[in-house]
Amino acid sequence: IKNIGILTSGGDSPGMNAAIRAVVRASLYHNLKVTGVLRGYEGLIQADFIPMDGKSVANIIQRGGTILKTARCDTFRTKEGRELAHKNLLESEIDALVVIGGDGTFTGADVFSREFNFPVIGLPGTIDNDLVGTDFAIGYDTAINTVVNAVDKIRDTAESHDRLFIVEVMGRDSGLIALRSGIGVGAEAILIPEAKVGVPELIHRLETGRKDKASKIIIVAEGDEAGGAYVVGEALKEKFPKYDIRISVLGHIQRGGKPSCMDRVLASRLGVAAVEGLLEGKTDVMVGQINKEIVFTPFSQTIKHIDAEKITPAWLRLVEILSM
Ligand code: ATP
Repeated sequence: IKNIGILTSGGDSPGMNAAIRAVVRASLYHNLKVTGVLRGYEGLIQADFIPMDGKSVANIIQRGGTILKTARCDTFRTKEGRELAHKNLLESEIDALVVIGGDGTFTGADVFSREFNFPVIGLPGTIDNDLVGTDFAIGYDTAINTVVNAVDKIRDTAESHDRLFIVEVMGRDSGLIALRSGIGVGAEAILIPEAKVGVPELIHRLETGRKDKASKIIIVAEGDEAGGAYVVGEALKEKFPKYDIRISVLGHIQRGGKPSCMDRVLASRLGVAAVEGLLEGKTDVMVGQINKEIVFTPFSQTIKHIDAEKITPAWLRLVEILSM
C-alpha cells in the first residue's frame, strides 16, 4: 500500500475530524501518501480528490463536523457507480480506503471491497452508536453530553413551573442516545424502540408513580414506536388534562459541537489502528474498541442486531429502578 484514500460518509458526527487527522498523521508516519476524498462516496464517483499532508489536518482535532464534507450518494448503490469509483481510484493511484461512517457506509464499503478486491477499513462514526464491534462509536459521547446539557436546562424551567416535559432525542432505529442520556438526566421515563414500553404503560407508570414530584422529564427516542414526542404529548394531555405538558425536540444540535475528550481520543486511537490494520493486510472490516482493546470486525457483522449487544435486559432493569 502506497496511497490511502480517506472519506467521511452518511450523517456527520463530532470527532470525525479527529479521526481524519489520525489517519493522515499515521499514514505520514509510515511514509504513505494520503488523499482526501470530498463528500463521501459522491467524491469517489466525481474524482473529487485532494492531497493531504500534516499541515492540512492542523488545528482540526477540536472541531465538530468534517473538513472532508459528507453526503448521501445513491449512485454508489449501483454497479456502474461503483465501477466509476474504482476506475477513479486506480487512475489516481489510491490503493486502499479508510471510510468513516455508519451502517449504510459500511454496507457500501462491504460491497465495494469484495467486488473489486479493494482494501477498505471502516471507522465507526455515528452519534447513534448502533454498530456491533465497538463499545462506542465516534461522536456518541459528545452527542449524549449535548443532550444532558440541554435537558439539565429544561429541568430548571420544568422544576420552576411544575411542568412535564417530553424531550425527543435522535435515534431512528436505536434507543442508545435516549438510554444513556435519559439515565444521565434522571428522566422519569425513557421510551426507546428496543424496550417497547408504549403509551398505555407510560400512562400506567405516571398514574402509579410518585405524586410529589415538581417536574417530570420523559425522554423519547425519535424512532420509538409510540410515534415521537408530539404523539406522546397528545396522548398524555388527553389523559392528564391537569398536567402542564411541554414538548422539546432537540434535533440537529445533537450532531454538532466540539467533540468530547473521549471522542477525540477514541478517534485518534482508531484512526492509527485503521492505517496499521491496512498495512497488516486487513480489509473489509471495521476497527473498533471493546473493553479497551482494538478489535477488527467484518463489515457484515457490524450492522444491526444491536439490541442484544448493547441494550441488555440489565440496562432496561436499571432504567425501571431509577425512573419514577
Ligand atoms: P448514519 O448512521 O449516521 O446515518 P450511515 O453511514 O448509515 O450514517 P447512510 O446514508 O445510510 O449513512 O449511508 C451512507 C452512504 O453509503 C449512502 O449514501 C450510499 O452512498 C452508501 N450505501 C448505503 N447502502 C448501500 C448499499 N447497499 N450499497 C452501496 N452503497 C450503499
